[in-house]
Amino acid sequence: MIHKILRHGADVLHHPSTLVTNVTPEIQSLIDDMVQTMYSANGIGLAAPQIGVALRIFVVDLSVGQNIDDLIIFVNPILTKKEGTQLEEEGCLSLPGFNSKIIRPEKATVTGLNREGGSHTIEATGLLARAFQHEIDHLDGKLFVDRLKGLQKSLILRRVKKLSRTGKW
Ligand code: ZN
Repeated sequence: MIHKILRHGADVLHHPSTLVTNVTPEIQSLIDDMVQTMYSANGIGLAAPQIGVALRIFVVDLSVGQNIDDLIIFVNPILTKKEGTQLEEEGCLSLPGFNSKIIRPEKATVTGLNREGGSHTIEATGLLARAFQHEIDHLDGKLFVDRLKGLQKSLILRRVKKLSRTGKW
């Protein structure tokens, strides 16, 4: 089932999500919904709080459904290693129409559970490393705009506020 993607300002996006205790059939069906929702929005990543579920789950697919092997699922992900830096444009399905250059580590190693509840670890670089860190931020109640400072940050927040005021958000 395709869900509505919540936008900046929705409560669940601004609080840390909780650990999944068991990868049950209900959790697997939630994961499948997340994958469908991500593809329908042409996104490369989606975290559970973005569809209103405060659980530590994210899905990433840099091929946006073109290559089945590119779909990565993490339940209870932990960033175990990070290295270097990269500065690239970043966007978010919860902040449509906005993007900013964000500094992130160039390499990131993430460990967690897969869709079957088994553990897996992925060492990522570049865009994949960025996607992992962006999604883990979601699970910690952070959006990319929270990593900005000063004028850059206030400009986006002001525009979002204006859009919400006029019912366009
Ligand atoms: Zn996002």
